[in-house]
This record gives sequence, C-alpha cells and structure tokens, in this order.
Amino acid sequence: MKKIAIVGGGPGGLTLARLLQVKGFPSVTVFDRDLNKDARVQGATLDLHEESGLAALQEALLMEPFMANYRPGADKIRIMDKDANILADEHAGEKDESRPEIDRGPLRKILLDSLAEDTVVWDSQFAGMEKSGEGWLLRFKNGTSAYADVVVGADGANSKIRPFITPIRPFFVGMTVLEGSVYDAENLVPEMFKLVKGGKLFIFGDSKTLIVSAKGDGTLSFYAGFKSAADWALKGDVLDWYRTEFKGWAPVYETLFANATAGMITRPQYCMPLDQDWEALPNVTMLGDAAHLMPPYAGEGVNMAMLDALELSRSLAKNNDVHVAIAEYEAQMRKTASAMAAMTLKQTEVLHSPEAISSMMEIMGQA
Ligand SMILES: Cc1cc2nc3c(=O)[nH]c(=O)nc-3n(C[C@H](O)[C@H](O)[C@H](O)COP(=O)(O)OP(=O)(O)OC[C@H]3O[C@@H](n4cnc5c(N)ncnc54)[C@H](O)[C@@H]3O)c2cc1C
Repeated sequence: MKKIAIVGGGPGGLTLARLLQVKGFPSVTVFDRDLNKDARVQGATLDLHEESGLAALQEALLMEPFMANYRPGADKIRIMDKDANILADEHAGEKDESRPEIDRGPLRKILLDSLAEDTVVWDSQFAGMEKSGEGWLLRFKNGTSAYADVVVGADGANSKIRPFITPIRPFFVGMTVLEGSVYDAENLVPEMFKLVKGGKLFIFGDSKTLIVSAKGDGTLSFYAGFKSAADWALKGDVLDWYRTEFKGWAPVYETLFANATAGMITRPQYCMPLDQDWEALPNVTMLGDAAHLMPPYAGEGVNMAMLDALELSRSLAKNNDVHVAIAEYEAQMRKTASAMAAMTLKQTEVLHSPEAISSMMEIMGQA
C-alpha cells in the first residue's frame, strides 16, 4: 500500500490525514516544522462553511467534537465606522448558525486527537526531495529523511513543495495586513472588549479596515488592512505608525495597538493567479494556501484548504491510479479556487474603498 507524506500540519494537511485514515489508507504521515503540537500560539477564530469546512469535518466523522468546541455567538458581527458608531449589529437580532465559529487552537486539537498515534512527525522542516524509485526521498532541516510514494504539499503560503509542481508565483495585491493580539483583553482593553461582545468588529474608514475578533481564551485578535507597497515594513513604534496612518479614528481603537501583547506580524497580501494551470504530476500535489493563496477578506482560506482535503481524499479513494486521482482533484480545485479568488479580490478592493460601509451593510442585508 502506498506511503503518503503530507508536508504541513495546518488545517488542510491535518484534515487530509484524518480523511485518508477514515477511508482506510494505512500509511499516512504528516511532517510539520513546528517543534511540537504546542509550539505556536494559534491564530484567531474561524467560521466554517457548510459546503466546505463543515462538509470535510462531517466526512471526517468529527462533528461531535466540533459541536462540543464551537463558540455560539462568536459569528456575530458589528459594523462600525472610524468614529466608533455601530452601524449594524448582529447581536441585536436572531442570527442563523449556518457558519459556526471555532478557534484555530481547538480545531487543530480536534484534528490532531483524531489521528492514529505517531501520524505527525514534529520538528520536520521540509528542506528538499529527490526522486527515489517510484517515489520521493524527502529531506528535513534536522538531518532526517523519509521515503514516500505520494507527496502532498500542505505547507501554506510559502510552500516549498509548490515549486516541484509549478513555477507560477503569487502576485502582490497592493495591500498589507498588520496583525496583533491583546491577551486578557477584558482587563487590558475593557472598552474594546465590550464592543466586540464575544463576536467580531468590522471597522471601516479612509479606505482602511480594522477587523477585531474575540477568542475563547479571552484574547482579542485584530488586523489592520491598508494599501501599501509590496515591501512595506513597520519602522519604529507601532503606536506612532497607527497615530499617523489612522489619524482621526476614535481613541478607543488605539487601545488595541497600545496593548498588543506579542508584537505585530506584517503580512503583505498575495494571491495566486486566477488562471494558473499546470500538468498534473504522477505523485506530487498540493492543497490549501500552497495551491491558492488569497487575501483573508472573504474568510475562505481554511474552508478552501479543508475542501481540498475532502476532494483529494475522495479522489484518491476512488481512483487506483494516483496520477488520475491527482489530475481529477487538481482540475476541480483550480476551478473552485479561481472563482473564490475572483470574489475575494473584489471584496478586498471594495472593503478598502470609500464604498466599504455601504457595501458591507448590503452584504449583511441591512442597507
Ligand atoms: C490575518 C488572517 C486572517 C485570516 N482569517 C481567516 C478566516 O477568518 N477564515 C478562513 O477560512 N481563513 C482565514 N485566513 C486564511 C487561513 O489562515 C489560511 O488560508 C489557512 O490557514 C490555510 O491553511 P493551510 O493548511 O493551507 O496552511 P497553513 O495554515 O499555513 O498551514 C501550513 C502548515 O505547514 C507547516 N509548514 C510550513 N512550511 C513548512 C515546511 N517547510 N516544512 C514542514 N512544515 C511546514 C506550518 O508549520 C503549518 O502548520 C486568514 C489569514 C490571515 C493571514
């Protein structure tokens, strides 16, 4: 039976490992560069969609732990302007729960706990691979190596597997995201904590965005989005930058930047070309951000990575010929991702324009 190596244990890679094990594949290994399962603080909360993230969890037989860990009410959004006016408020009425939220940490734990023992090999940063017989010999930075018949790149935005499949590179979309978090937000930023109310704030003004979300552990995650050059970098103190860049915004928002607990992460925004295409290889493929990185403004990245995992696992289970399975999966994946990226780029543009508020109100049906 074929040995399958998944490089990257993010939501996409772990979902694929689980689905393959549920479908009876006996030799599935995930290699991740993190030192161990607790090595990184996991990012903010995610809403999983019925047709993608939730469909994958369903087929992975993980709806029960999901239901025990999702956060009712965390999907409720408030739209605000730069003067701290609440323009639309989902806390005010009934909201259907078709897009339940779960924090990344608990989602990762559910997936890890579901895997057969020793499925994940930590501290395995992929460094390269060479053809070996019918398969590949993977090399890791720590000096170890492993043979696999089939390799799946699930190693995110800067995938090191992707160049084995295609030379096509992502393009810069003209904006940067600056991300931070405030731990113990109830005490450190009480006014913001109350405004967020366990859900999310979408704040718009001056063609910029500030998106804030509550995590189950009392942290507020936030990210500012603004137009920039590709090589934009934060020079000096974040508060000085904020006061210049977000001049005239209500003082309450500044408290986030003044209390950011673990420093700020700069994320220039890239997207894979919408018309990307390549010939399927017989035994290497990829999924998630590695295959179709896009900006976060449609909340689809994790959902798409999990949908890829679902479709790839189905295709591998259905086709004895791995090459056929990969070709079938990739054709569908590129089509879906291209449509999603087109929608996401449009949304990213609108949310960073003077029409942001009216457009978002329309989306929420409250215009
Ligand atoms: C600010 C922000 C907000 C977002 N909000 C949302 C949202 O609300 N909803 C949503 O659906 N998506 C959101 N996204 C997008 C989402 O985070 C990604 O699309 C998603 O995490 C992609 O999953 P993945 O499994 O493909 O890759 P990743 O989550 O990037 O996982 C890659 C894994 O590979 C490992 N790895 C990397 N390189 C190597 C290597 N060389 N060797 C071994 N292992 C390696 C990493 O340690 C990691 O575990 C957001 C993104 C950002 C930046």
